Amino acid sequence: HLEGSISIPDLDPSKLIVTLTARLKPIPQPESLVFGATMSDHMLIASFDPINGWSAPEIKPYGPITLDPASSCFQYATNTFEGMKAYIGPDGSARLFRPEKNMARLARSAERLALPPFNTDALLELIKRLVVVDQRWIPNLEGHSLYIRPTIIGTRSALGVSASDHALLYVILSPSGPYFRTGPKPIALLAAAENVRAWPGGTGSHKVAGNYAPGFLPQRNAAKQGYDQILWLLRDKAGWKVTEAGAMNVFIVLSREDGDIDLITPPLDGTILPGVTRDSVLAIAKAHTSGNLTLPGIPSTQSVHPYEQTFTIADMDQWFAEGRLQELFVVGTAVVVAHVGRVGFQDDMKKPARDLVLPSHEGRMGPVSRAVRQMIIDIQQGKVEWDGWSVR
Ligand code: PMP
Repeated sequence: HLEGSISIPDLDPSKLIVTLTARLKPIPQPESLVFGATMSDHMLIASFDPINGWSAPEIKPYGPITLDPASSCFQYATNTFEGMKAYIGPDGSARLFRPEKNMARLARSAERLALPPFNTDALLELIKRLVVVDQRWIPNLEGHSLYIRPTIIGTRSALGVSASDHALLYVILSPSGPYFRTGPKPIALLAAAENVRAWPGGTGSHKVAGNYAPGFLPQRNAAKQGYDQILWLLRDKAGWKVTEAGAMNVFIVLSREDGDIDLITPPLDGTILPGVTRDSVLAIAKAHTSGNLTLPGIPSTQSVHPYEQTFTIADMDQWFAEGRLQELFVVGTAVVVAHVGRVGFQDDMKKPARDLVLPSHEGRMGPVSRAVRQMIIDIQQGKVEWDGWSVR
């Protein structure tokens, strides 16, 4: 299936070479962990070239890699990555959360950058092997996990502006604690009209590195004004459409006259990353409403109707004025679910943002954000079995 070739070797777990470190690193106290700052003892690595295909994969001590300065990844951002987590289940075994979704997304992102294809089942098998080798790095504490960062970079060492026919695939692991150490804290988002993250026909629905660096300056400007993250907008005929927040998908909770709840997230129109957490939230809302599962704290008689539907800043203003806007929350692998307390809208960068302050809730989280957060964490940690999502 490798384009233009007869049959060159694919990624093959049976060829795995394991070299263990002679010196295990001390594991930091879980309470002191800073997201993404500490790496485990080992990494997985394999390389691709157009003659030999994928090399025998290796698990070896974590450490620097040497690359030609002309490498495609440095010059043209032929870089794609994933973010997933391993947890310790109640039985003491390591678990991954819906990992096949991350593998499929990585394959799609690699294809978008014309990077070589790989067997996604093989990569998942190799990641499982790596996680078992470094299992002692999975913090065994509620809300803690081992963050997994699979990465593929283009390593063609020539400056011609074209696809990289050489690549390096590696997977690194970083123990992580809860996003908010002091318990749930409502976050503030700045909806700044000046920059867009993605656009029709662009790469917004792919997890490619080039989507992220241009967000750092707007993010820094938002932080200077006291906001935690950017709420990315896209303007079209409908108005200022809400798309995503930082590296997270967005949900809005509206009350209904019949006492039920509407749960709305923007549709996957090509400008939005198809988040695994987003998909999970939609699925558990549907399961609650069909009676297959009960969201903690939400009466089983109160349906939560999920919709993938465009909404704008003007819609939010209107729902707020009508008293229907109950909650806004953001979801993603790193944060799981975070409740939003305030959204600033800044359409003129010379003037201060105008704030929409969302209703406050007991315990600093709305009932729906709290319920989906607890449900997802329980499934991730293997306390609740649901639809094969937690994979040993
Ligand atoms: N949007 C963007 C832009 C992201 O980078 C991420 C993180 N992968 C998400 C949303 C959330 O996706 P997931 O739930 O798969 O982590």
